[in-house]
Amino acid sequence: MPLENDKFENFPAWYDEVVIKAQIVDNRTLVKGANVLLPNGYAIWENIQKILDKMLKDTGHKNAYFPIFLPEELLEQEAEHFEGFAPEVAWVTRVGDKKLERKVGLRPTSEAIMYSMFCLWIKSHADLPLKINQWCNIIRWDTKDTKMLLRDREFLWHEGHTVHTTAEEAAQQVMEAVNIYKKLFDQLCLPYLIVKRPRHDTFPGAEYSIAFDTPLPDGKVLQIGTAHNLGQNFSKAFKIRFENKEGKQEHAHQTSYGVTTRLIGAILSVHGDQKGAVFPPSVAGTQVIIIPIYFKGKGEVVAQAVQEVYQELKDAGVRVETDLRDNYTPGWKFNQYELLGIPLRIEIGPKDVEKGQVVLVRRDNGEKIFVKRDEVVAKTKEVLDQVQQSLKEKAWGKFNEFLYEVKNIEEMREKYPKKKGIVRSNWCGSKDCADELKAEFAVEIRGTLIEKKEEPFGPCIFCGKKAADVVYLASAY
Ligand SMILES: [Zn+2]
Repeated sequence: MPLENDKFENFPAWYDEVVIKAQIVDNRTLVKGANVLLPNGYAIWENIQKILDKMLKDTGHKNAYFPIFLPEELLEQEAEHFEGFAPEVAWVTRVGDKKLERKVGLRPTSEAIMYSMFCLWIKSHADLPLKINQWCNIIRWDTKDTKMLLRDREFLWHEGHTVHTTAEEAAQQVMEAVNIYKKLFDQLCLPYLIVKRPRHDTFPGAEYSIAFDTPLPDGKVLQIGTAHNLGQNFSKAFKIRFENKEGKQEHAHQTSYGVTTRLIGAILSVHGDQKGAVFPPSVAGTQVIIIPIYFKGKGEVVAQAVQEVYQELKDAGVRVETDLRDNYTPGWKFNQYELLGIPLRIEIGPKDVEKGQVVLVRRDNGEKIFVKRDEVVAKTKEVLDQVQQSLKEKAWGKFNEFLYEVKNIEEMREKYPKKKGIVRSNWCGSKDCADELKAEFAVEIRGTLIEKKEEPFGPCIFCGKKAADVVYLASAY
């Protein structure tokens, strides 16, 4: 049962179809943009949480939980930040039939809520650094079109918030977050461009923002993670001060960063195909599905072999399940688990039992591998590693196809409408040029590389004046 919509010819329709049919999301709720994350999707999130939570704890972060409620007076303390989020904040204005004296917002992000507390906790340089992580839901009442997992009104995320004594330490912390995200996205087999966003696209209230973009099959990019250096902007607004070693009061330096359930949408988009979802073994809720092939009179020997293989794999730490139902044919089950994105299938029939073997079938490329019964654990692990590696290589190959260079506006007009993707070019730094490019091509200046300073290879793509930076342009979700 292949999907009806073609992934590359009509990506938005393919995406909506795969999200529903692979049982990731059920959107039949009564509030637009607030959907059910089904077990097959939530399992991906849980595995992302496990990977990320460990890295955060290993680098000294502590988990905490802050309230969802955002008192209006807090938002007023930080005007720039507030303005950036104001259009999307949902407010509680009444309780029962009683109107509240002061309305209460639902968090669109937690800077204000957390920092009003940090102000009470931090007294001395000895209290720093403070590294807090929170796993929670976020409410952003988007009035534009919602898109399952990519643009929801309620979604899940993690947000890291840190406080430091010096600007250098805060800058280093941003890089620590960037390195953690690199490792995470590598495990999700997601390719990425890491850029410093231009000034006009910086997180409200931040000194600078670093972001990860990944291209989706239609050539538009999706922001999959961000890290912000907040400088002293918030510590001044929320009076987060500490006594330094000389006994003087100073404002602290801060950072914040996050990734969201949008990552599930990114994984689906990058790896999925015409048969459905394709999940990397690192995060698939079920890594291996064992399907018995029953024949009359041979049911018992097959069932026994299935049970043994299941137990061996389970004991070896593989996330394995069986489907023993006899009212569905093996063929139906093959299609079903391919649709759900399970990385590896094991088939066991009477002939396999006789020969002392099992059959492994890779979800990503359909390859069939015959494996001796006593090598099943070692071989399964090896093949899961190969699947993981191939998904990563294939995704980076696609990423490199999406990235190309453009020297001037004529070349842009010729190439971009056909190729889309990420354009490497030169920019003078003027917001006007960025706006003109957006008006003509619907592209945004996504930013400059952070890992090396690139020397411009020509004049500004739009105005032809001297370029200040090499930038990356793309249309974004
Ligand atoms: Zn220009």
